[in-house]
Amino acid sequence: EEIEFIQALQMPGTRKDEPDLSESEMKKLTIEETQKSLPIYPFKEDLIAAMEEHQVLIIEGETGSGKTTQIPQYLTQAGYTRGEKKIGCTQPRRVAAMSVAARVSEEMGYKLGNEVGYSIRFEDCTSERTIIKYMTDGMLLREFLSEPDLGGYSVMIIDEAHERTLHTDVLFGLVKDIARFRPDLKLLISSATLDAEKFSEFFDDAPIFRIPGRRYPVDIYYTKAPEADYLDAAVVSVLQIHVTQPTGDILVFMTGQEEIETSNEMLQERTRKLGSKIKELIILPIYANLPSDMQAKIFEPTPPGARKVILATNIAETSLTIDGIKYVIDPGFCKQNSYNARTGMESLVVTPISKSNHNSQNSHNESLVVTPISKASANQRAGRAGRVSAGKCFRLYTAWAYKNELEDNTIPEIQRTNLGNVVLLLKSLGINDLIHFDFMDPPPHETLVLALEQLYALGALNNRGELTKLGRRMAEFPVDPMMSKMILASEQYQCAKEILSITAMLSVNNSIFYRPKDKVVHADTARQNFFRPGGDHLTLLNIYEQWEETDYSTQWCFENFIQHRSMKRARDVRDQLEGLLERVEIEVTSKPGDTIALRKAITAGFFYHTARLSKGGNYRTVKHQQTVMVHPNSSLFEDRPRWLIYHELVFTTKEFMRQVIEIENSWLLEVAPHYYKSKELEDGSGKKMPKNTGKTREDVTRNY
Ligand code: ADP
Ligand code: MG
Repeated sequence: EEIEFIQALQMPGTRKDEPDLSESEMKKLTIEETQKSLPIYPFKEDLIAAMEEHQVLIIEGETGSGKTTQIPQYLTQAGYTRGEKKIGCTQPRRVAAMSVAARVSEEMGYKLGNEVGYSIRFEDCTSERTIIKYMTDGMLLREFLSEPDLGGYSVMIIDEAHERTLHTDVLFGLVKDIARFRPDLKLLISSATLDAEKFSEFFDDAPIFRIPGRRYPVDIYYTKAPEADYLDAAVVSVLQIHVTQPTGDILVFMTGQEEIETSNEMLQERTRKLGSKIKELIILPIYANLPSDMQAKIFEPTPPGARKVILATNIAETSLTIDGIKYVIDPGFCKQNSYNARTGMESLVVTPISKSNHNSQNSHNESLVVTPISKASANQRAGRAGRVSAGKCFRLYTAWAYKNELEDNTIPEIQRTNLGNVVLLLKSLGINDLIHFDFMDPPPHETLVLALEQLYALGALNNRGELTKLGRRMAEFPVDPMMSKMILASEQYQCAKEILSITAMLSVNNSIFYRPKDKVVHADTARQNFFRPGGDHLTLLNIYEQWEETDYSTQWCFENFIQHRSMKRARDVRDQLEGLLERVEIEVTSKPGDTIALRKAITAGFFYHTARLSKGGNYRTVKHQQTVMVHPNSSLFEDRPRWLIYHELVFTTKEFMRQVIEIENSWLLEVAPHYYKSKELEDGSGKKMPKNTGKTREDVTRNY
């Protein structure tokens, strides 16, 4: 089996000459030589001078120029960290923040976490001595809560600005504002692509500093016909390249961890079968949840005679640069949060190009926009093949699909996501008028209104839209508003200990179970043995508590097909949450075995996510009558209770509820009498619903 590719136009490079270093020589470069070989290096002095002269500077330079790793070092040398001041640099992705911090501390000869550190959600790897701090954009947002003028920083770099993540977009407005009353703070907005003009305009015509690119040309190939199974096509393409093409590493873009694991297994299996008939193929995954020692592996040089294939998420599109890549395989997929402001439904969508038949997939929910990767994204991906020499990019879709099915640019996240979190944070910063907040591209009005309504229903805002005491406490937790409400509600139901464990487990949710291909039956049995009546949250709690009892044993995890590192992460998350609970002065009480108390606390946070079994035998969401299914992995898949609360919706072939618990409809009136009317909760079971008590939202949330 082989895939037929058609060669299309070449993507021109900015250099056509032969590479000045052969690959084997490339690998012998010392850190200093590498630094000097980066495109940004000749501009070091100019850049420092421009920074001296201007308060705000936009930097544009191709991915891999050295922006992220070098600029903070240049600025340190130029004296910007004197007087106990730090240089901050934001990253849209966790892995990038960690990996870049590790690289820079190594380049500077420091131990990670001392002079150079990083801060990501639930993990602070910095110290008193830290002068260069990499952090996710979300973490910088949270820093505004404790230090609204960013007083500890002399320079703030908003990096990867072109990614236009929700948090980065909000930061634009906040840092622009701060720059006005902190003339000593320098702002750098750094971007890989062509949005520089737009950033400049937003920041009052800040000057643009351009680092010329140094890329070799890349040949673009398309498939002759659409590929039905893109995972399989990717695997076949890897082997095809490995067998037919000269040396050079391969980069494959996948949408997430699951796909990466599956294709990894497929590749392992097929290369094993081919045995010594082919040269060595080193398969390396990279995604957000991969432990950092494994992440570091992708940067290790390929041994002579072998070939490396990196299976990566979008992270390798612009955030991370891996040297030695000559071949890129682009299936054209990406995972994007998509949000329907009309119903408030949020789900993760995986969209294959050429399968993007909007109507058939989403007929029940037309404003859930299906989005294939953009042309900009596809070209960025292709560009990754031209860093060390001329390269090739194999697109697993047709030239027609590229031309007709891809948008020019990705829609900024702020225009397609739930804003609850961000609105709560901005309110906590005292920014009340969100309609007039300085957004580069404002969110849709209805999304903003819906976020306000949801926060109001949760009790975080009062009817004038101001932050309540509950809202202030909710903002302390770096989790979604429904989750923080659930945590705070656990005080009333006296089950904070259990709710913390559940929250922690939900936060690592999709990587708890280990399911090796050759032991599927054993793994599934082990998983089912953890099931608890009542639903999946209780199952997660059960796993956590059993693990706790073994004193956090690795062996126990191994025997039960549980991923030990996910559990460790859950424990870290739990510790952090427990610390925050102390901050809001909630005692960690426990009600062992009282699953009703637990489920009521969950309901107090997630009453939006209610589904009911309809007469036709389907589940429908209560407020919007959207048809949803219980995920086949759920313990309630066969039980089919009448009323359910789900943690999240995942959209694959159907809209699936992942992590569900059974509830009673009367609880909804208990926790959200302002949101539900008795009438809409009647279910024809003959059981009488209590009348609405006339309780207000304030009555219910007064005690939180
Ligand atoms: P930019 O931000 O302009 O995209 P970077 O500063 O991220 O560029 O990358 C500059 C160089 O540093 C690249 O050649 C990249 O391969 C190298 N690099 C970055 N992180 C690591 C790492 N963890 N290990 C080895 N090399 C790295
Ligand atoms: Mg970068």
